[in-house]
Amino acid sequence: MTTPSPEHYPQQAKQALSDPILKKALKGLQDRLGSGALAAYRNLPEGEGLRHLAHEIRKAHVRNIDVLLATLGRNIRSHGGNVFFARDAAAATDYVLNLARERGVRGVVKGKSMTSEEIGINAALEKDGISVTETDLGEFIIQLAGEHPSHIIAPAIHKTREDIGRLFEKTIGIPYTDDPPALTLAARKYLRTRFLEADMGITGCNLACAQTGQIALVSNEGNIRLSTTLPRIHVAIMGMERICATLDEQLLLLRLLCRGASAQKMGGYVSFIAGPRKDGFRDGPEEFHLIVLDNDRSRILADPVFREVLCCIRCGGCLNVCPVYARIGGHTYGYAYSGPIGAVITPLLTGIERSKHLYCGETLCGACKDICPVGIDLPRMLLALRNIHAEGSRRWNIRPNHLLESLAYGIWAQLMTRPKLYNAAIRLGHELSPLIQRLHLPGWTPQRAIPSLAKRRFTQSPMSQTSTGENRHGS
Ligand code: SF4
Repeated sequence: MTTPSPEHYPQQAKQALSDPILKKALKGLQDRLGSGALAAYRNLPEGEGLRHLAHEIRKAHVRNIDVLLATLGRNIRSHGGNVFFARDAAAATDYVLNLARERGVRGVVKGKSMTSEEIGINAALEKDGISVTETDLGEFIIQLAGEHPSHIIAPAIHKTREDIGRLFEKTIGIPYTDDPPALTLAARKYLRTRFLEADMGITGCNLACAQTGQIALVSNEGNIRLSTTLPRIHVAIMGMERICATLDEQLLLLRLLCRGASAQKMGGYVSFIAGPRKDGFRDGPEEFHLIVLDNDRSRILADPVFREVLCCIRCGGCLNVCPVYARIGGHTYGYAYSGPIGAVITPLLTGIERSKHLYCGETLCGACKDICPVGIDLPRMLLALRNIHAEGSRRWNIRPNHLLESLAYGIWAQLMTRPKLYNAAIRLGHELSPLIQRLHLPGWTPQRAIPSLAKRRFTQSPMSQTSTGENRHGS
């Protein structure tokens, strides 16, 4: 299979739309998770207002990110852990590779982490001869299939249980079954030995707390506890924006994250980790390393238009209500992050021009903003990206696109603000209609015909007159 990429979004979307298995797998996603999240917000004891409070809290975190990260680093070190601030994906992967080499690591178990997907850690470790096993059930399934996650919290949502039955039969050698409990037990049995053999556990981090110097990880399968306590080394990778100031704020956001993600009051397992095993304790790793990844997030932070996207806590809720995602699935977006949040963050991380189809492909229906547990205005940022695509931006090093289009809209704006000129243009346009209709405009006329321009404006037509002969529009 070819690796999906943001540039090939149109072809990937076309392919996804004609895939009956994907259609079947995504059916009901919105009913199951989308509406469930809204009901879960309604049932919050503090009421809907809690999401507004969370929005303000996240904005404050992003504003004070430098101070909070410095405090987090100090506190983690005081617990005996190590902290590495990685400028980019290469620095983060180098850190993990060097650590693995120095400590003689042969096997790694991984908890689900989109940040590790962003930096491509699996491929880097495997290239070095280190075996990597994904332990989240969904991630395990797609690893066996040789694919990438298609959803932030449900990585194998694009697969049906029949697909998974055939995959397990082929790859881990169990007799075919499409019974979910039987498949889960087979995966558990297979993974148990990997947990016991692993030297290193790699996880993400849902939210870190500066005040206490601990990270929080939520799961529903218990795999995170095994990945973080059984191997002798634990490495957690977090995007630098996943920071909270206080424990109270961390707990509040975790409650909202679980509601937005899966309509749960709280995930099945919540782990708070603040460093390696302490003296006198039996469980826990000998070493704990936290990698805080920038990878162009500082650039986003510096732009007041897009800074808000760093408030995201990656609950995946916006994917569950997006009418575009529901039809094309996550692989179409061609990067670690898909759906509405992917359509904003991917262009900012990988290139606004390179990923233009992502933000142009969204409908701007606003469902993502309504469902977001921290009230992020993704539609506003989708529009801002389109604006940069058309007008260009020095900050993002984008030249104006489609000079002709910009010119046409410029002329249109002039006409719309000058009624006399506008009327004259309408009359001229009508006269020239036969000529205009023969124009060939790539990307426009092959799909649709240009209609003939009316001789008069609508407000001058009899349809706009009232029964007494007055003009409804006053002109
Ligand atoms: S934008 Fe909001 S809804 Fe979407 S993943 Fe981020 S926090 Fe969740």
